[in-house]
Amino acid sequence: MTHENSLAYAKKQDAQDPLAVYRDKFHHPVIDDKQVLYFTGNSLGLQPKSAREYINKELDEWAKWGVEGHFEAENPWVSYHEILTPGSARLVGANESEVVCMGSLTNNLHLLFVSFYKPTTKRFKIISEAKMFPSDRYLLETQARHHGLDPDEVIIEISPRDGEYLIREEDIISAIEEHSDELSLVFFGGMNYFTGQLFDMEKLTKAAHKHGALAGFDLAHAAGNVPLDLHNWDVDFAAWCTYKYINSSAGNVAGLFVHERHGNDTSINRFGGWWGHNKERRFLMENSFEPMQGAEGWQISNAPVMGMALLKASLDIFDEAGIHHLREKSLQLTSYLEFIFNDVVNQFPDFQLEIITPSDPQQRGAQLSIKLIGTDKSFFDKLTKAGVISDFRSPDVIRVAPAPLYNSFEDVYQFGSTLHSLLSKWR
Ligand SMILES: *Cc1c(COP(=O)(O)O)cnc(C)c1O
Repeated sequence: MTHENSLAYAKKQDAQDPLAVYRDKFHHPVIDDKQVLYFTGNSLGLQPKSAREYINKELDEWAKWGVEGHFEAENPWVSYHEILTPGSARLVGANESEVVCMGSLTNNLHLLFVSFYKPTTKRFKIISEAKMFPSDRYLLETQARHHGLDPDEVIIEISPRDGEYLIREEDIISAIEEHSDELSLVFFGGMNYFTGQLFDMEKLTKAAHKHGALAGFDLAHAAGNVPLDLHNWDVDFAAWCTYKYINSSAGNVAGLFVHERHGNDTSINRFGGWWGHNKERRFLMENSFEPMQGAEGWQISNAPVMGMALLKASLDIFDEAGIHHLREKSLQLTSYLEFIFNDVVNQFPDFQLEIITPSDPQQRGAQLSIKLIGTDKSFFDKLTKAGVISDFRSPDVIRVAPAPLYNSFEDVYQFGSTLHSLLSKWR
């Protein structure tokens, strides 16, 4: 693909983009009277303008019905989570029985570990990525301790090779083979939050299964960003948050996937609550937990309807646009960002700014991670001041993620132009 660093070119791409209409379906922040360039959909997605309607609808139902809304509301609250299932299943490539919206990401992962991390004296190791998202790391450490094990003996971290930024899949596979006799679980961020590296989850799952281990993924950076196919990849379990690429509001209800071969097995141990109990008998208030079949059997508490209404607003947009169409645009938009960035930076050979995200589009999503070499965070602060909302990840990386739902080619062009003027004035 040959791009051009010009406003005319960017505008032409936008004019040809069938998804360009979605930009205006979101609120774009205005900070200091200026509409900013928003590239942090990988951290918190923008608010769909429709969100307010969805919330108002449930507020009206509550006002009208009080407790009766559980059964009398147009979307009865007792089963409200069910209306989120089809859209969520499409985003992660699952059968509907394999998906449920509930809880929050790290909480869901802990619940999944209760069921799927069952260390024995022989098999107790977990293979994972080095420098994983801290919450995931704390999950692994505390799960190990929960079983009376030493995290340093449990967690096998796969690092990039010396002088490299990315993890080579062949190194993961050889670690799986090396530790195969003692391996319980392969657990990775499907897409690394820091580098933006997208892993081949099907391949990792196959390798884990071949050696008698299970495979689970944190999809925080993958869900809503790249199409997924969890069922066919044979992934055992996964969880994701919905406030990043899925635009459902800060800290909102998350998603959980359990492959049907496990979901149909109600004898699998889990932590129970009434919402995971046989729904025909839920209100009989009896003893003896009897889990529902499928992912719903991992639910604990009744559904937070207001948050779920926001998620419904967002999933409806995804269903209309289609994750595969979004991916097509995303591939172009991120390749344009890469082009613009390199074009600008090459004009300033004194500066060392380097993209560490894979250059292969199949191994990345929307995000590019830019490493600052020889500069410090003040560079990022200036970028922010100039109206570019990206984010800084310690010690030295700026993450920029054009979201195909609401970012345009012109946004990317303007990013380049801001970067250019910043670098021109730097010294
Ligand atoms: C964003 C993110 C989280 C956040 O976890 P919460 O439980 O939603 O606070 C966890 N893991 C990864 C990989 C993330 O990117």
